[in-house]
Amino acid sequence: MLKIISDSADESSPFIKSVERAKLLLPLEKMLEQLGDWELCVEDRLCPFHDDNSPSFSVFAQGEHQYWKCHAGCGAGDQINYLELKFSLNRGEALRLFLEMAEWSDKDGGFYE
Ligand SMILES: [Zn+2]
Repeated sequence: MLKIISDSADESSPFIKSVERAKLLLPLEKMLEQLGDWELCVEDRLCPFHDDNSPSFSVFAQGEHQYWKCHAGCGAGDQINYLELKFSLNRGEALRLFLEMAEWSDKDGGFYE
């Protein structure tokens, strides 16, 4: 018989839970540092996705997570959205890359649902 875990996140798959954990392990600012984008994105607040002459890029915290936004309209989101845009990846590819970056690559054997 299956055990039912009675927390509020009981509808999340183990995959989504690893992603949530990885996001805490590798916050956006730390990921930007890994990518060599920290200075541009955080210090100069310049958007890496368009030719930015006036600082359009914000990194902000919401709850325990960090998000980014380009005020010129390139997009907004979390670490995964950033990787999608930066490397022209689909969601699955970006998730896999992110988990690898967060050193979850050996967890559970596979990342696609
Ligand atoms: Zn932009």
